[in-house]
Formats: sequence, C-alpha cells, structure tokens
Amino acid sequence: MNKQLKEDLQNLEVLLEEAKNQGIDYLHNIAERQTSIQTLKESVSSLRSGGIGGLGALQLFNEKFERLIVGASGPRYLGYVVGGTTPASIIGDWLATIYDQNPQTTQAQGDVSIVIEKQTIHLLLDLFGLPHNYLGGFVTGATMSNFTCLAVARQWFGRNFNKDYAKNGISEKINILSAVPHSSAIKALSMLGIGSNNVIMVDVEEGEREAIHLQSLEQQIIKLNGQAFILISSAGTVNTADFDDFEAISKLKEKYNFWWHIDGAFGAFAACSPQHRHLLKGWEGADSITIDCHKWLNVPYDSAVVFVKEKHKVLQLETFQNSNAPYLGDPNADINYLNFLPENSRRLRALPAWFSLVAYGKEGYKDIVENAIQMARMLGDFIERNESFELLAPVNLNNVCFTLKDTANVSNFLTTLNNAAKVFMTPTVFKGKQAIRASFVNWRTNESDLEMVMDEMRKVVINLDT
Ligand SMILES: *Cc1c(COP(=O)(O)O)cnc(C)c1O
Repeated sequence: MNKQLKEDLQNLEVLLEEAKNQGIDYLHNIAERQTSIQTLKESVSSLRSGGIGGLGALQLFNEKFERLIVGASGPRYLGYVVGGTTPASIIGDWLATIYDQNPQTTQAQGDVSIVIEKQTIHLLLDLFGLPHNYLGGFVTGATMSNFTCLAVARQWFGRNFNKDYAKNGISEKINILSAVPHSSAIKALSMLGIGSNNVIMVDVEEGEREAIHLQSLEQQIIKLNGQAFILISSAGTVNTADFDDFEAISKLKEKYNFWWHIDGAFGAFAACSPQHRHLLKGWEGADSITIDCHKWLNVPYDSAVVFVKEKHKVLQLETFQNSNAPYLGDPNADINYLNFLPENSRRLRALPAWFSLVAYGKEGYKDIVENAIQMARMLGDFIERNESFELLAPVNLNNVCFTLKDTANVSNFLTTLNNAAKVFMTPTVFKGKQAIRASFVNWRTNESDLEMVMDEMRKVVINLDT
C-alpha cells in the first residue's frame, strides 16, 4: 500500500474529526458567510508526484479555497432556486459517501441500497400526495429528470407509429407543445435529438401570468390534426412560480392523444402546504413528473427524482435498456435501475432524502414550505410599498419577481447589492423587462434575515439616487 494511503488509513479518526469540526464551524456561521466573492485570483498548480496526505490536502484546501466558499446554502442566498441542507440530510449524505453503495439491480447479492431508494420514492410520493401508480428513481438534478422523462415520452411518441426509436433512431418529427418550459427542458430536447427549436410555443394567460393559455393550447392541438404530441407543462415557473391549470389539462387528456409531462422541480412542494395544494389539483393525471430534491427538500446537491406512470414501464425499459451487457442481470425483473435510468453505476443518492424525510416528516416540510412562502410575501409587500421598486407579479408561492421603477438602474442595483455579499439575487427578463428574482427555498431563512435583505436593498437604492 502507498505510504500516504497507509498513513491516512491509520489516521482516519483524526482526518474525519478535522473535517467534521470544520463542517460544524461552517454550518454554525453560515448566516455570516459572504454570499458572493469578487474576482478569483488563484493560481493553478500542477499535480505533485508525491502526495501530501489527507491532512495536508485539507490544509492546502483551506489556504487556497475555503475563504472563497460562499454561503450558497445559507439563509440569504436567494438567487436561482437553491435550497440548503437540513442536518439530517447531511448525515445521510456523509453516510452515502462512507458506505459508497451502487444502487442498480435487485439481483445484487446482499445489497440493500436499491431497497432504500425504492422506499425513499415511496416516502416522496406520500409527501406530495401522489398516487402510488408512479415508478421513480433518483437522478442528479431536475435537468436530468426532465431528460429522462422526455426520453420515455420520445419512445412513447414513436410507438404511435409502431416505431422503436430507442433501437432505430427518430424517423418522425416529434411534436412538442409548451408555454414557458424551463431552459433545462429545452436542453433535454437538444440532447434527445428532438431539437431545441422544435417546440410549438403556446401563448400564456393574460396579465402577469406565465401559465399556458388553455384556448390557444387547444387550438394548437386541433392544428395537429389528430397527431400525437408531448406537452411540457409547468408546476412553478422560475420567474413567478406560476402553474398551468392541471385540471383543465386532465380534461384535454380525455379528448386527445398526448404524453403529459410536468416540470415541478420546486413547485411540486406546494403540495406540502394545505393552503397551496390546490395549485397542483389534477396533476396526478400526468404521465411523468420532474421534482428536484436539492431545492426545496433541502438536501445537498446531486438529488432529483423522476416519476413515470407504472403503465409506461415497458417504454422506460426500452429507452434505458442496458442489455448489451448481459452479465448485469435480467432486464425483465422488478425495477433494475440499470435498465431504468440513464446512468449505470450510481451514488446512493436517496440516502440524504431518506434521512431528511424520516427526520422531519410531513409537518417538517409543511413548515419549511410555508415559512419560505411567508418570507416571499413579506419581501413582496416591502417591494410594493417602496417607491423605487415595482413588483412584476403577485407573489404566488416562493419567488418574487420585481424591477426598479427606473429599469435603467436594474443591472447597477443588482451588481451593487450582490457585491455587498450579504444577500444574493439573480437577474431575469420578465415580459420584456429587465428584472430581478428572489427565490425563497432555504429552511433557515427567518424574519431577521429578511430585515437585513430589505436594509441592503434600501441602502443600494439610496446610493443609486445620489
Ligand atoms: C432548477 C430547475 C430545473 C433544473 O434543475 P437542476 O437541478 O438545476 O438540473 C428544471 N426545472 C425547473 C422548473 C427548475 O426550477
């Protein structure tokens, strides 16, 4: 055994203790962490021939990078849609690394990891109040979940022509309809050979809405003249967290032949709150659903799920068949993730989610979700009352979309706000206007964080005017 490896093995307790203490220190002080850093000036060094051991690496990491780590999982990081990490999810994540299992096949001897993954899927269906006629599994993020769901949809589309696209490639133009698809769904279309330009864009409802306009949708469907199509709908758009009308779409499902996909990366969590569950009414009619766990579930990155109706199991197996490696097991057995999802070898990604779901239950997630919504509303109220800002849409859930009355100042405002490094928001364009979004998903965010956010916003605005 290599000398450094041998030393580290003997020194394991010290190594993990050091990392643990550093982790605790970070987590205790996360609210004070800067939310952004200015230009990076770290030099690149080449790989040494002899290593410096685990402790040496930790020391070097601390010298080079630690101070540059931002509080992205902290309470005032409101950019994109980022979550955080609940304490229990960290236990699960650490243990997933330590156990280093490969959840893949039911035939694996003496390996419980696939059972843990399936049970976690079961718990998630309970959390969202979804029927258990979906099969699911973990992928790295909602981008991969959209990719996976749309890959099965593609196979379904081919079957309408008695074609097997998985085996023979795409031979028909695939009809895709959507109103406000997330950029990652469009990226999935390009990865799938469907083509990112090949989306028939449907209008949205009038006013500040981002939900699909139902009459326009039906008109587009009629234009297809009975051809099959794939509908990508939204449970939570990134700007305003708007939802398509799922009850109405369910009714269309009775009349027309289409695959219904819902991107509910974060919006699905509305199901955790009795006052907001109505936004998802009818969603159980969808053929496939994307949900991100590293957002509102507040587990570490590398976590999203795919839900596809069990009745489509054969299509999914056709799509992800890995049978060119016969030693890997019988593809027709119960779920074997090897033939069911894009990856072959996989991390036990379900473990952080399992820990967090078990630790906090439905109540815990109701509290996390409702707290975030309350924070978003408070920020929305502040923006409405402040004469420098304009709220661009009512706060529907957890995202606040706003601009400055003088839109020429938006970019300057945002740069100054983010550079102060106490709060982080991201730019967007909403209905042609330069705008800013603040998204509340972190379980830690509280009213004093919000006070600080509003203070920072006021300060920047005052300086812009002088
Ligand atoms: C974040 C997000 C995605 C992409 O998720 P990743 O986890 O970043 O891959 C897809 N759809 C929606 C609606 C999102 O909010």
